[in-house]
Amino acid sequence: MEPKVYINGKLYAKEDAKVSVFDHGLLYGDGVFEGIRCYNGTVFKFSEHIDRLYDSAEAIALEIGLTKDELKSAVLDTLKANNLRDSYIRLVVTRGVGKLGLDPFNCEKPQLIIITDTIQLYSKELYEKGLDVIIVHTIRNHPEALNPTVKSMNYLNNILAKIECIKAGAAEGIMLNKDGFVAECTGDNIFIVKDNVIFTPPVSAGILIGITRNVVIELAEEAGITVREEQLTQDDLYNADECFLTGTAAEIISVANIDGRKVSTGKPGKITLSLLKKYQELTMAYSSV
Ligand code: PMP
Repeated sequence: MEPKVYINGKLYAKEDAKVSVFDHGLLYGDGVFEGIRCYNGTVFKFSEHIDRLYDSAEAIALEIGLTKDELKSAVLDTLKANNLRDSYIRLVVTRGVGKLGLDPFNCEKPQLIIITDTIQLYSKELYEKGLDVIIVHTIRNHPEALNPTVKSMNYLNNILAKIECIKAGAAEGIMLNKDGFVAECTGDNIFIVKDNVIFTPPVSAGILIGITRNVVIELAEEAGITVREEQLTQDDLYNADECFLTGTAAEIISVANIDGRKVSTGKPGKITLSLLKKYQELTMAYSSV
């Protein structure tokens, strides 16, 4: 079936799904977005993603122009039109069509785009083996410049880091912040395990508040594992017993090597695997509601 893309209340065939070259989303990266998963017909953590989208929009003074419920209905209608039960949903809200020049307030109205597709970030083999990652030189955006909690269309900071890791043959790049502490990866949050305690950088380190990160923290605490949000150094990573990444697309994936150094045995650790199992049970349980 021909995929259909939602733009401002209408569905278009993929090849007709186009936006204006005068859209400030294209001209300036002025807009916000979300990546969401739908498991067996149920949108996972739907409200959390919608809330984050509205928070991101508010942070850049962008009025989406729909209520949260209207937006949710638009997403569900798009999934239905595409007959998709397992899907990756990309929600994009651009500033809209305006004049050349930065002023966002001369843009007529925001453009809402909903793309529903499938995504597999990493192969099954990599989930079993773990990823080889590096610490990149590109530092994560300074939170007082462009706060990483805002999921904006300005992803160049992450793309520069991604270029570094691709050139180095690594699967992901760990980004440090302006103070040299660990922030996050180019498209995932990061966790380590040391002496059976889970550590992850705090929001103040300059990170996106990942929905998967929050779910993993909850799952770990439910299982009686201590989770600490603490500043982490490069050495903390090298000395970790386990390391894993979290994200909507990746879910939970183990890290086998950092900068060519094995993380412990180099195999996915016990806590990582137990959390992955719990996460998969949760997404499956969601589907049966
Ligand atoms: N950090 C960054 C920079 C991201 O782009 C993402 C989403 N791909 C994440 C972390 C993970 O967030 P979530 O769990 O909400 O997908």
